[in-house]
Amino acid sequence: AKETGRDNYAFFTERMDAEIRDKLAIQAQLRGAIARDEFEVHYQPQMCLRTGVMLGAEALLRWDNAVLGKVPPNRFIPLAEEYGMVNAIGEWVLESVCAQIKLWHDEGLGDIKVAVNLSAGQFGHDNTVAFVEATLRHFGIAPANLGLEITEGTVMGDPDKAVAALKRLKDIGVSISLDDFGTGYSSLGYLKRFPIDVLKIDKSFVDDVTTNANDAAIALSVISLAHNLNLRVIAEGVETRAQVDFLAERGCDEMQGYYFSRPLAAPAFTALLRQPRNL
Ligand code: C2E
Ligand code: CA
Ligand code: CA
Ligand code: CA
Repeated sequence: AKETGRDNYAFFTERMDAEIRDKLAIQAQLRGAIARDEFEVHYQPQMCLRTGVMLGAEALLRWDNAVLGKVPPNRFIPLAEEYGMVNAIGEWVLESVCAQIKLWHDEGLGDIKVAVNLSAGQFGHDNTVAFVEATLRHFGIAPANLGLEITEGTVMGDPDKAVAALKRLKDIGVSISLDDFGTGYSSLGYLKRFPIDVLKIDKSFVDDVTTNANDAAIALSVISLAHNLNLRVIAEGVETRAQVDFLAERGCDEMQGYYFSRPLAAPAFTALLRQPRNL
């Protein structure tokens, strides 16, 4: 038993060391990532379930680093938050998205709305609202073409500040989506306090929505809740035809997921936009 205990301990510290090395490597590489132009925004279509038309996209950040390879956002965004780098990255994403929307406008590709994920650290920053306004103005983009996705985690740090910032953004015409809805612990309280336009049903409820009675009940409840509050509702992580049919029949407004498309680099997404009919 003693041997096992020591082995476990050795194994544990080894893993801790690896974890710390890994974190330090990411931190070191993140520092220069913008300057080396290693980030790229991918766009995942958001489809109207009633008409099959593409209404917009969610912007999802990709990082390809020479040393570390491709690092998923779930891994590096929390570390960027920890290291105080998330504002710079968030501003880079917003500028890239607005530059891209401008290109689509110039090509006459219509009124696509792009939703950008906000990080927790971005609300601690007094300049976020001013930066969004300035960026929209700089690229000549209507606020209606920009959405922002927040989670409870995004706003938890300073909810009062976040409410004030989001109200100002909503006042200028930027729409706000509450992401990963139902996975936190106080979602209903947030609905009451925050100026939300869209609820996103989390993928964890969508996965088994056609086979699990509880997940189906939760999805249905979120759809009714959203509609009773005059909000739109998007299901995320939709992968099968059965899920599409289920959600469409129950009045879900939009869907997003691999069933229709994975997140695409700008050229591939542009090709989709050029097709007259999308679903
Ligand atoms: P999220 O905002 O919940 O984004 C949805 C995630 O689900 C994305 O993962 C997307 O690629 C993935 N997804 C979409 N449809 C499907 C599907 O049908 N099946 C499966 N299995 N997955 C699907 P991704 O791109 O790896 O992003 C992970 C998370 O990283 C995001 O979760 C978001 O929290 C964060 N993130 C990504 N880009 C940004 C960004 O620009 N800024 C901030 N602050 N966070 C970001
Ligand atoms: Ca999101
Ligand atoms: Ca989500
Ligand atoms: Ca999710």
